[in-house]
Amino acid sequence: MRLHAVGAPAVFWLEASYEERAVPKAAGFWWHGGNCRQPCGACKAGIALKVWWTPKRECATRLVEHADDAANAALAEHQATVAASRATDAAVEIPCGVHALPEGGRRVRDGTGGHSDR
Ligand SMILES: [Zn+2]
Repeated sequence: MRLHAVGAPAVFWLEASYEERAVPKAAGFWWHGGNCRQPCGACKAGIALKVWWTPKRECATRLVEHADDAANAALAEHQATVAASRATDAAVEIPCGVHALPEGGRRVRDGTGGHSDR
């Protein structure tokens, strides 16, 4: 597995085998399968079809151990930021691309409150 970066601002793509597909998926990468909706950031950056990619450094950082030199350079600044924030907020990490339900989002209306927080 190899993480690459192209362009500025950097767009990241991953060289990975079919068997490894769960890794970029879990990291929040998108599959570049063709039939792109325009504008497609991956096509614009010249990224080939049939690879995993992301324009988000916070997602690419999750695979930094696989980064090549260009990807490392593109991630370096972000890593410093992440390291600083982890130092103060180590317990909580929200997965990339996953949107947590707002608190109370599953609350059943019981008729006593009558108003919504949303
Ligand atoms: Zn595309």
